[in-house]
Amino acid sequence: MPKSFLIDTSRCTACRGCQIACKEWHELPANKTTQYHWGSHQNPQDLNPNNYKLVRFSEHLEDGVVRWNFFPDQCRHCVVPPCKELGDVYIEEAIVQDEKTGAVLFTEKTKKFSAEEAEEVREACPYNIPRRNDQTGLMSKCTMCNDRVHAGMLPACVKVCPSGTMNFGDREDMLALAEKRLGTLKKKWPKAMLADPEDVNVIYLLIDTPVNYSDNAVAEAHIGPMSKKQFLATLARPFKAMKA
Ligand code: SF4
Ligand code: SF4
Ligand code: SF4
Repeated sequence: MPKSFLIDTSRCTACRGCQIACKEWHELPANKTTQYHWGSHQNPQDLNPNNYKLVRFSEHLEDGVVRWNFFPDQCRHCVVPPCKELGDVYIEEAIVQDEKTGAVLFTEKTKKFSAEEAEEVREACPYNIPRRNDQTGLMSKCTMCNDRVHAGMLPACVKVCPSGTMNFGDREDMLALAEKRLGTLKKKWPKAMLADPEDVNVIYLLIDTPVNYSDNAVAEAHIGPMSKKQFLATLARPFKAMKA
């Protein structure tokens, strides 16, 4: 059965344990970063080849009250991944999907994408997730810690989260937990919602409007008024025609 995450942002304290655990498990090097001139505690400023996970900090004013939202951003492991749909047009199986867990994985073959193709793959992602190492050409992102999951362990970011924000398990169980928590949170936070739960295996529970977390918290914010299905159909049309 496919696996899913529930990321309950109402519980996130922005400790960034998940971000660090991800780097440690994947042995990703540190980035030289600074908070100076940038005016945010978010660090680094964006996802990059050394950060598959980034806790985004978003500060905004609402009805005279300053709200500070935290959003542990990562690949959504889309049920039908647009990155793979497009990637397969250029290099078959450069991006693969593990049928058992649902994890979407970028392989070494992504190095064979030209810079332009890699950029198209990045743009195909409704959540602006994949990043390319300009030196090696390798494209990378969250792996769902698929090696750990196959060994019966939790993803590193879930294992380390001290607040109950990060949850992981069978998709059915995570969807049920998401609905339960949504019912509870709606009472205090009427705007509470689940972000694209039918389309993704990383389900975010938000208590504020999506744009108050990130420009790409939900797919719709990225692709405008089109539904994701319409977006995918539009995307696939010219490439399918080219392959035929
Ligand atoms: Fe939030 Fe948990 Fe990550 Fe800490 S470890 S930043 S509480 S999701
Ligand atoms: Fe691919 Fe983006 Fe979906 Fe991740 S979130 S599976 S990178 S399309
Ligand atoms: Fe990083 Fe693993 Fe969490 Fe993905 S599942 S963000 S690879 S720790």
